[in-house]
Amino acid sequence: MATGYVYHELFGWHDTGTQAQLLPANVAQGLQPFHHYEYAEPKRRAHELVVVTGLVDHLTRIAPRPATDEEILLVHTPHHLDRLVTANPTGGDAGDGGTKFGPGGLDIARLAAGGVIRAFDAVLDGSVRNAYALVRPPGHHAIPDSGMGFCLLANIAIAIRSVRRTHDCKRVAVVDIDVHHGNGTQTVFWEDPTVLAISLHQDRMFPPDSGHVTERGAGPGFGYTLNLPLPPGTGKGGYQESIRRVVLPALRRFRPDLIVVAAGYDASALDPLGRMMLTPGGYRDITKALVDAANTLCGGRIVAVQEGGYAEAYVPFCLHAVVEELVGVEKPFPDPFHFDRLGQQELQPHQDAAIKATEKLLVDIHH
Ligand SMILES: [Zn+2]
Repeated sequence: MATGYVYHELFGWHDTGTQAQLLPANVAQGLQPFHHYEYAEPKRRAHELVVVTGLVDHLTRIAPRPATDEEILLVHTPHHLDRLVTANPTGGDAGDGGTKFGPGGLDIARLAAGGVIRAFDAVLDGSVRNAYALVRPPGHHAIPDSGMGFCLLANIAIAIRSVRRTHDCKRVAVVDIDVHHGNGTQTVFWEDPTVLAISLHQDRMFPPDSGHVTERGAGPGFGYTLNLPLPPGTGKGGYQESIRRVVLPALRRFRPDLIVVAAGYDASALDPLGRMMLTPGGYRDITKALVDAANTLCGGRIVAVQEGGYAEAYVPFCLHAVVEELVGVEKPFPDPFHFDRLGQQELQPHQDAAIKATEKLLVDIHH
């Protein structure tokens, strides 16, 4: 059975303005206009590589559709939706001062969230085996009452709540491998034991002071939020061990009906924001392990959803490796960068200590 694939040209039209990458351009501060980190190129180039290599011929295209108000309000407050609706004709900010969008930005964000819903639908109704949703803007930082960290809408959370209304999908595991903490997903499902929210991220980067190992959910959801803050510099070995010792045992204990990967490529060795060392090969290994887990635990039902990733020339190869593993191609397209040779790609003692701290928390996850 095929792998589904969501992309739409409008995702490249989401306009984050002329920021000096992270900060608004400002003459007095010496900040020359440039482009926001979260601009179209990394993801547009990733899609184009998928087309150019012919990988797209192995994929079943899934057309996105806009998420409705009703679907958005399954996660977000009317206050947040009203803010986006009001600013949509002119463009504006999604709530934290750093999440800009141009005129029509909400229309594109609706298409991203709706694209994820359609990918989930296709996997759950069995029309595809698994899927990749290459959407933009990203979603994992958005909280119910606000956009945050380049995210307008909580795409994954909206899709989880939407598909549960029509599909038998009681238990969902989210494995967030973006270099930043998946705080939005964590917040939405904080007290919900039916969604296991696992986040592997660089220790205390964004949001600041967020994603501690001590953040574990509350009430009936206690234990179903699992954070693994990794030291800067973690590479292939540290991520492999994190998957093997934390993520896979957590998934086996939880026994999800669907696995969702929050796929951020800002943990790559060339990312301008993250300080990790993953390569296309590293992303391939992670995906292979998660696809195997999905095959064993939930009939192969796994959806990877695009989050961050800012190295324009490198993101395409990381994404390509992930999609190849979802498809199960026999001859992967070669990685021209060869950063697997970087020193300290293997597990380091301080990374091992971080993994050990989260490993201890697995006992509180039950089916
Ligand atoms: Zn990120």
